[in-house]
Order: sequence, then C-alpha cells, then structure tokens
Amino acid sequence: MRDGDSGGERRRSGLIARWGRWRPLRDAEAREAAAAWGAVLGVAQQVRLERISRFQVTDHHGRRGCSLVGVVHDAHAACIYHSRALTAEDLVHELLHVAHPEWSEEAVVLETRRLLAGDGRSEAEAISASA
Ligand SMILES: [Zn+2]
Repeated sequence: MRDGDSGGERRRSGLIARWGRWRPLRDAEAREAAAAWGAVLGVAQQVRLERISRFQVTDHHGRRGCSLVGVVHDAHAACIYHSRALTAEDLVHELLHVAHPEWSEEAVVLETRRLLAGDGRSEAEAISASA
C-alpha cells in the first residue's frame, strides 16, 4: 500500500534500520526509539517509559508474573509501562494508541504492521543500505 508520503517512508526505513522491528531494546535505546517514532507518528505528548516488575502484573485469574506492555495517556503526557524489554513494534503499537485514541485495537495492529513493513526490503538490507 502506498501512502503518498515517500519522505515519511524513508524516515521509517531509517528507524527500522536503527532499532529493528522485533529486537529487544535496552532501556536507553527504547527511550530514543520512542522519541523518534513518536515524532514520525505525530505524537504531541511527552512520552515516558516505565519498567514495572512482572510481579506487579496479574492476569484475569489474579495470577502474578505475567508480562505486560501498555500505555496510559492524556492530552499532555503518555507513559508506556512494560514488564519486559520493548521492541520497535511495541513502541509503534503503543504510540499509535496515543496518536489515535479513537482507533480500535484492530486498526492499531494493522497500521503497526503496515508501518513496519517499510518498503518490503529485509531488515538486513535496510541496515546495509543505511551504513
Ligand atoms: Zn493495543
């Protein structure tokens, strides 16, 4: 699918080359990636990342130790809570919720997939092209 925004597409390829799609990011990398992806996705809010312990997370049955990635946001700020290392896919997904609060979960999932598909090159090719 073309979005008629080749500048945006090139910027996205650069971000994918730098932080990948599904590579677990260290916290400092994730902060940088969140800021860069937030700018590309038009997120106006200040975005903070906060690691939480798996033992603070319970599932529907009240069992502890689940993994969680989720975002809480208002008009001014957003905080992505995570109990495991974040990936670029996690960040794009959560930032889309912030940028488009009216979107359904399905719409966010589809747009995340489209944005990370880039121009169809493999991650390795994108990395060597940007070197
Ligand atoms: Zn979601």
